[in-house]
Amino acid sequence: MSGGNTNEPSFRESVNSLFDRAVQRMDLSEGLAEKIRVANSTYTVRFGVKLRGDIKTFTGYRSVHSEHAEPVKGGIRYALAVNQDEVEALAALMTYKCALVEVPFGGSKGGLCINPRDWETDELERITRRFAFELIKRDLINPSQNVPAPDMGTGEQEMAWIADQYHRMNTTDIDARACVTGKPLNAGGIRGRVEATGRGVQYGIREFFRHPDDLKAAGMSKGLAGKKIVIQGLGNVGYHAGKFLQEEDDCKIIAVIEHDGAVINENGLDIETLKKHVSEHGGVATFPHGKHEKDGAKVLEMECDILIPAALESVINLGNADRINTKLIVEAANGPVTAGADEILRKKGVIIMPDMYANAGGVTVSYFEWVKNLSHIRFGRMQRRQEEARQEMIIEALEKMTGQNFPPELRNAFVSGADELTLVRSGLDDTMRGAYGNMRDLWHQSLKKDKDMDLRTAAYIISIQRVADSYRALGL
Ligand code: NAD
Repeated sequence: MSGGNTNEPSFRESVNSLFDRAVQRMDLSEGLAEKIRVANSTYTVRFGVKLRGDIKTFTGYRSVHSEHAEPVKGGIRYALAVNQDEVEALAALMTYKCALVEVPFGGSKGGLCINPRDWETDELERITRRFAFELIKRDLINPSQNVPAPDMGTGEQEMAWIADQYHRMNTTDIDARACVTGKPLNAGGIRGRVEATGRGVQYGIREFFRHPDDLKAAGMSKGLAGKKIVIQGLGNVGYHAGKFLQEEDDCKIIAVIEHDGAVINENGLDIETLKKHVSEHGGVATFPHGKHEKDGAKVLEMECDILIPAALESVINLGNADRINTKLIVEAANGPVTAGADEILRKKGVIIMPDMYANAGGVTVSYFEWVKNLSHIRFGRMQRRQEEARQEMIIEALEKMTGQNFPPELRNAFVSGADELTLVRSGLDDTMRGAYGNMRDLWHQSLKKDKDMDLRTAAYIISIQRVADSYRALGL
């Protein structure tokens, strides 16, 4: 999808121009920069499935952007607008994202031109299995080469079908389950994957709020509580981000934009109630606890502290960038801000937490799931009870030495050993904090010489440097 202005470049061109902005600030040969910039390959498949008494033909893609690390990783999207340009842009972002958060994968992405709402579950299963068959037989789904995950329009169910399809075609592969991530728990998934991208958005925002300099750059007061947030898209990512920010950080979600318009409530929307309503009624239009606005795009321009686009790409573009009225944009979606809009917003002093960082929670926990599948054991299973026994001993010793009782309100938290969900969240939090630290260090250091430096360019520089180092190590 191109931006709102017809003069705007395509999504892939937009990603490339943000890439070039970073490369201009690096000491990288033109040849190596070009090698990193381009997609290595994009496979297009057209396949037929007999449905409703006729043969329906579907078009799908799997693009591999960079194989400097393998397997390559990236979600599969189901949407009518899927096209080669979009898939290649998304695959490129996966390369940079994995490098930024130190997940040892290359970048890939897939897509199928389909509106999942048009099909019944059993029909979707047949379509998904057929698409997976086409990709598996070309090793475009494979535990050691190419590992998909959910994206827009897909979720646990599609991933379970893909895993099963791979297993049927590779019956003796003991690592078959590692061929895809984002599976349900009973099919080899990991606790915390469904919430991971939204959780990562929350951890990223929390980290931003730990740095007074960054708040100052955004013109924001400290403390997340009470901050006004607008969210676009109440799907997997938008829902979880909104829910956690509201329930755990006391933020006020003042508007949610969905495919059928927006719902606004300056006193704050209850995300759990709204999500239930959307699931039951298919949209936000009839939600009774807020004002409905038909023109969802207009609500992106509403005054707020944090704007979280969590649906589509190119929604903030040359057509509306100068009217965006927020201090911080957190790109939960991939590519929601076009390169042209990025420039306008930078000049306005709006801080942008870039997609390759903000939504990296998904791929981070996918990495944990892949490791779990290959090790064939749940995280925490071996050590949890042993940890608890040791903590009990410490309490006993403390009580003996001091003659006093350990505070009962702290006892449970102190004793309990980490289970899988706790470990996954801890690993995700550590990843988000570490990557943010790297980005902001470069941002602030460079600002002294380069007034035009921003978080996104810093993120690109770090990622490109890491990919370049891998290529050099490979002897390229
Ligand atoms: P999803 O399909 O679960 O949700 C998308 C939501 O956006 C849906 O509720 C849909 O109704 C809504 N929507 C569609 N058109 C809209 C419009 N015009 N205006 C407002 N809302 C609209 O998808 P998701 O998995 O939450 O992905 C959303 C974004 O996050 C995508 O850009 C995706 O690439 C990115 N992302 C997802 C993950 C993940 O783990 N799922 C990881 C990284 C990045």
